[in-house]
This record gives sequence, structure tokens and C-alpha cells, in this order.
Amino acid sequence: MTGQGPLPPGSTIGVIGGGQLGRMLALEARRMGYRVGVVDPTPDCPAAQVADFHIVAPLSDVKAVRELASRSDVVTIETEHIAIESMHAAEAVKPVRPSSKVLANIHDRLAQKTFLQTHGFPQPAFAKVDTREDLEAAARTVGVPAVLKSRRGGYDGKGQSRVMEPGDLEGAWERINRAPCIYEAFVPFRMEVSVILARGVDGTMQVYPVAENVHRNGILHTTRAPARVPDAVAARAQEIAKGVAEALGHVGVIAVEMFVTRDDEVLVNEIAPRTHNSSHFTFGACSTSQFEQHARAVLGLPLGDPSLLTPVVMVNILGDAWKNGEPDWMALLAHPELRLHLYGKKDMKPGRKVGHFLLLDADTDRSLARADGLLAALSAGAKRPE
Ligand code: AMP
Repeated sequence: MTGQGPLPPGSTIGVIGGGQLGRMLALEARRMGYRVGVVDPTPDCPAAQVADFHIVAPLSDVKAVRELASRSDVVTIETEHIAIESMHAAEAVKPVRPSSKVLANIHDRLAQKTFLQTHGFPQPAFAKVDTREDLEAAARTVGVPAVLKSRRGGYDGKGQSRVMEPGDLEGAWERINRAPCIYEAFVPFRMEVSVILARGVDGTMQVYPVAENVHRNGILHTTRAPARVPDAVAARAQEIAKGVAEALGHVGVIAVEMFVTRDDEVLVNEIAPRTHNSSHFTFGACSTSQFEQHARAVLGLPLGDPSLLTPVVMVNILGDAWKNGEPDWMALLAHPELRLHLYGKKDMKPGRKVGHFLLLDADTDRSLARADGLLAALSAGAKRPE
């Protein structure tokens, strides 16, 4: 279904998925006077704690998604891992932004890489692997070292395995359970960056400053904005992200993660057709957060100003912070330049993203140098960082 013009405050946004991205979207939308409904299987999930209503059901429950759509004015998503049938069920009832067509190009890594290739966006060399013969052929054409990535369901480095030497081919495939995958050239990158932007119903776009990301164990650890890249590299990254959003016909916020090589080449790693962890800095350091921007885009409103108000570093807090019991939150809250975000999760598993903090300091080197000390202080009981 297509929309009828901008939706005013008082309208309802239905969100498929109830994690932290849905929660922060709901916080921003409710601040602006909108209502928010959520479908998610977990009672008291992060978004449900701050939403107007929660339908407790799996995202694949077509009936539940149809009910969400019928009780909403527009439907959106907070994860790309949504069955296409659920998207179609919602689309039969209300406008869904982004659409099932966008997700069809993203769901599967092979579809995503093929989409990028068809449109001529730069990316690492890759090959499709379904069989042992494919694996050997890929090693010959793409070369070693490489990364094997399962085609579906991977996130935060899950479903990935590195091939560091030719003898490791079989072992690497075994580690991802011989799943259908893509074989991708390993990029000895200088830096990882991401560009987030919003594209409105009318095709207008607003782009955020390029962010610089550091991952640990495949999980985002810190983001710094602005990224330390030459202007030409920043412009190139933003131009690629805009091209991707345009080619997809995306509506809403979209993140494009990229590698910057030692020769300042920019290669696309991954597209996330939604709000993104690497852009949490916008919620506290930009005029318009990515969540308000996403709400504006899907509601058919004019987009907000994406300007960065101050250099910023974002540090992810993982479930590991609970290793000695309840973290010492005062170790963070004692710092006036620090903005704490917690997602209201109940299950504090190691590696699980449970919150983040922003350091609003013009000196981003200083902020990054403090990140590990602040995280350590959280689990060190009453000890305070310097
Ligand atoms: P992904 O889930 O594809 O974003 O991968 C998670 C992280 O693994 C990335 O952010 C990189 O740090 C690393 N990685 C993924 N693909 C490659 C690659 N082709 N070359 C080097 N590092 C990679």
C-alpha cells in the first residue's frame, strides 16, 4: 500500500522487531507525539518497555504482523531478518517502509553482493560457494586469504570464518557448518567506516558525517565521528551510500559499512537497511538522531538536519560487563561529558549488546584512549576511572 502524505503526531508507527533499535525509535517517536506498536516474541523486550502496545509473537507470525499493520498508520522494521511473508502481510494492509523489495536485495549475502555488482559499486572480490568444488574454484579465482560468510542469518561476525592459508579451506568451511556461503577476499583495510543516511518517500536524502568504526571479535567496539579520512574519501563514501539507497529505492534510514584501503580505495562491506549501531552517536551528538530521522522518513515528513554538533566517540557495552555482577554505573555517570544509553535487556550474555555510551569531547583521540578504562571500571566494582 502507498501512503497518503505526511502522517501527523498522533499517528501510529508499527515496528516489526523489538530490540534496542526499535526502543530508541520508539523513544524518539513518542517524544514527537507519535504512538508506537511492536511485534516481538520476547515479553518485556527493549522496545516494548517504551512502546504503546506490544504484540507478543515471532516476527514470522503473519497473523500478528497483520494485526500490527491494522493498528498502525505505517509499518517499519528494526532488523532485516524478517520473513518476506511477514513483509507481504503488512504491505497488504498499510504502507511498509522500507518495502519487501528492498529486503529481497539484502536478506541473503549473495543477493546483496549481486545487487552491488549489478550497479557497479566497489566491493571485495567474491564467489558463491555451495559445494566443495565451488570452494576450491573460489580459492583459485578470489585467492587466499579470504573470509567465508554464510549467506543467511549472519550478524556481528557470526557465521563467518577466515581462510588464512590454502590448507585451511576445509576447516574454515567446517567452522560455519558447510553452510551455503560466499567466499570473499580478505581486505587488509586501513580503516572501517560507515555512512548512514535517510531517504524520504519523495527520494530526498540527508547524509550524516562519515563514522570510523573499530570491531572486536566481529562486534562493533567503538565509533568515532567524524572519521579521520581525507575529504575526498569522505565524499566518495557518502556518494556510494547515496547511490546504494537510490538504487534500492529505500525509504528510511540505511547504513552502508565500508573498508578504506591503504590506497584510499573505498569498498562496500555490508548494507543494513535500517538504523545502525555505528550511528548511535547521532542520538546525542547530532541535531537529529538517526531514530528521529528514520521516523521522519517513514512518516513522510521532511527530513531533519543531520549536522554533527560536536566530535564524539561511541563505546558499546556488552553483556561481558556483568562478569562480576551488576556493573558500577556510577563509574560512568560521574562524568558529565558521558551520555549513557541502556537498552533494558534482561539476559546479559557475553558478546550481547546491552547499551552504549557517548563521550562528547572535541578530542576524539582522548575519548578513545579512555574507552577501555571506563569499560573496565564498570566491572571493577566500586573502583572509579581516572
Ligand atoms: P560483517 O558481519 O560482514 O560486517 O563482518 C564483521 C567484521 O569482520 C567487519 O566489520 C570486519 O572487521 C571483518 N571483516 C568482514 N569481512 C572482511 C573482509 N573481507 N576483509 C577483512 N575483514 C573483514
